[in-house]
Amino acid sequence: MKVNFVDLHRQLATIEPDVREAIDRVLSRGDYILGQDVKAFESEFAAYSGSQFCVGVGSGTAAIEMGLRALGIGAGDEVIIPANTFIASALGISQAGARPALVDVDPKTANIDVSKIEAAITPSTKAIMPVHLYGCMAEMDEISEIADRHGLLVIEDACQAHGAEYKGRRAGSLGRVAAFSFYPGKNLGAYGDGGAITTNDRSVYERLVQMRDFGQVKKYEHLFKGTNSRLDTIQAAVLRVKLGHLDDWNSGRREAAALYDRIFAGTPVKTLSYPAHQTPVYHLYVVQVPNREATMDAMRKSDIGFGIHYPIPIHKQPAYAELAHLSGTLPVTEEAAGAIVSLPMFGEITEDEVRFVADAVLQSVAGAVVA
Ligand SMILES: *Cc1c(COP(=O)(O)O)cnc(C)c1O
Repeated sequence: MKVNFVDLHRQLATIEPDVREAIDRVLSRGDYILGQDVKAFESEFAAYSGSQFCVGVGSGTAAIEMGLRALGIGAGDEVIIPANTFIASALGISQAGARPALVDVDPKTANIDVSKIEAAITPSTKAIMPVHLYGCMAEMDEISEIADRHGLLVIEDACQAHGAEYKGRRAGSLGRVAAFSFYPGKNLGAYGDGGAITTNDRSVYERLVQMRDFGQVKKYEHLFKGTNSRLDTIQAAVLRVKLGHLDDWNSGRREAAALYDRIFAGTPVKTLSYPAHQTPVYHLYVVQVPNREATMDAMRKSDIGFGIHYPIPIHKQPAYAELAHLSGTLPVTEEAAGAIVSLPMFGEITEDEVRFVADAVLQSVAGAVVA
């Protein structure tokens, strides 16, 4: 058996005629930029994520940057994010001209540790941007309460959390704006780059519609220095097909995660544990193992794909040398970086595949303990 980390071919096989038909319709119409499917997808995705408005943009990183800009956040401002996240969370903030401020994460969920947020607030802090990492939402009630107390905005980095729920409310509906990515490997992925911003704020929505299109209010009339960052019509057409399957795919992920959880319970393989009010969508299934090298070797030998999300924390990246002084102050993030491994996870993964992967991991752990 060979188990891929993600298997987009298997997913495509289940939707291929619909995808080809959707792309063909765009080719016949020729409305490649801001066409009919962009508008339709935006209203469908807004409804799906429980928010009033959605603006399709070029990527998740652009969604973060533009979301912040639309809220007036930029030079001189700080935005609080978890230290354990994909670097794009920080890059979107930097692109907007602001500075990321890193807060350590909760070892049980790998999401921002809400008890450590207040210590990171300074007079320059303008917003908190929790990341719904690995597909589980951050503790949004506590975060909103802290934000309200300090007059801060809340922005969701929902790039890994399409369809995730927190106390019955969907990712994308709980911040002033929320950023989504449609990178192909995300739970809702295009066949190229893409992103979106959701919001309930009409004026922010209108600003973003102009911002992604050169700051244009009408043809060749430019109100401000916008950019060119639009969701392609062809990608929107693909996303419309896929959105209809997202809940099924997310259920498949949850079933696989539940099986992994059951198999690893009581073993030296440490799984994350999410509170009952969370309905995660398992963008990634991440465990901590006692000897990662041994486990990775075992998986390589068994033809099992895996990843590490993420091996080098942001403050240890050359790109963020200005944050290097934080080294040693973010222990949970730093420890996780050396011990976590992400196991195969996608909507169509079978029970046999999950058992095969879990067996290989458990054998490597037993071997590591003996050695
Ligand atoms: C993927 C991702 C992004 C960036 O999205 P792109 O579409 O790749 O630019 C931002 N934040 C997180 C947490 C992500 O996983």
